[in-house]
Amino acid sequence: MIPAPFDYQAPTTLDEAIALLGQHPDEAKILAGGHSLIPAMKLRLAQPQLLVDIGRISGLSYINEEAGQIRIGAMTTHYEIESSARLKEICPLLPDCASQIGDVQVRNKGTIGGSLAHSDPAGDWPAAIIALRAEMVAIGPAGERVISADDFFVDFLTTALEPAEILREIRISPPQGRFGQAYQKVRHPASGFAVVGVAVTLSLDGGGVCQSAGIGITGVASKAFRAAAVEGALTGKTLDDQAIVAASAHTTDGVDANSDLYASEEYRRHLAQVHTRRALLRATS
Ligand SMILES: Cc1cc2nc3c(=O)[nH]c(=O)nc-3n(C[C@H](O)[C@H](O)[C@H](O)COP(=O)(O)OP(=O)(O)OC[C@H]3O[C@@H](n4cnc5c(N)ncnc54)[C@H](O)[C@@H]3O)c2cc1C
Repeated sequence: MIPAPFDYQAPTTLDEAIALLGQHPDEAKILAGGHSLIPAMKLRLAQPQLLVDIGRISGLSYINEEAGQIRIGAMTTHYEIESSARLKEICPLLPDCASQIGDVQVRNKGTIGGSLAHSDPAGDWPAAIIALRAEMVAIGPAGERVISADDFFVDFLTTALEPAEILREIRISPPQGRFGQAYQKVRHPASGFAVVGVAVTLSLDGGGVCQSAGIGITGVASKAFRAAAVEGALTGKTLDDQAIVAASAHTTDGVDANSDLYASEEYRRHLAQVHTRRALLRATS
């Protein structure tokens, strides 16, 4: 339970942080809220030689609206998102998801950027970010680039970020017109992480016909994924019980589901279908 020895730097600008990461590409790790990295270090699953603490860089924690998008700084905590009255109004999936992460201490310290960069297969944010088709803004030695949610999560604990890149901002286009959203989760009884988590965002026309659907699933596979077959089955349909049940049956189509001591592959697939159905029912109620 004691981490391996490491050095610590707390830069006050992004440029300094990027320079430090560039000088130590294989040894350095960014420290944000520390609620995934520090436990991993204590178990010696991670042994970085240098921690670059980005907590003293100003201007990385905010929830703004600009150019028709919601812009969230990477250091914004889960609690700040959970408690945003504006997000509850324009994109309630974000506070709904945030409110189901860990406990109040975790939500007060953990950050959306840290959670996304960590890409824990049972983390909650990746499901919501995929459903919302968010864009991730990364900054590194070569400047800024935008990575789509679909390209960001590469594999187990692996994202498209380069070693010297920092996730700076998350951009989300809020739904327009009539919409429904929900995050539905089965919590692991010991850790609170998602055994299965389902994020849903739907745009509907005046008659209740689904114009577009975004469905992100976490907890089931080595990384969060888009349930494209469910989205396809919903689009263009009136979302009655029959359409929802039929679409939910496709939640894990083409996916290699995890199996562990708590939940077999079959049980996870079953939970994913049931909770996709429940999330869709909540989003349309
Ligand atoms: C008891 C407990 C319960 C929890 N329950 C849940 C849960 O139910 N659901 C859930 O989703 N999570 C849960 N978590 C994890 C929590 O949400 C973490 O806060 C989150 O996963 C990581 O965010 P962080 O800010 O703490 O990042 P850190 O732990 O500081 O960093 C995590 C990783 O991301 C990298 N990183 C951090 N920020 C950036 C950045 N801006 N750019 C690039 N790389 C970056 C770090 O180098 C590190 O590799 C739990 C944690 C604990 C301790």
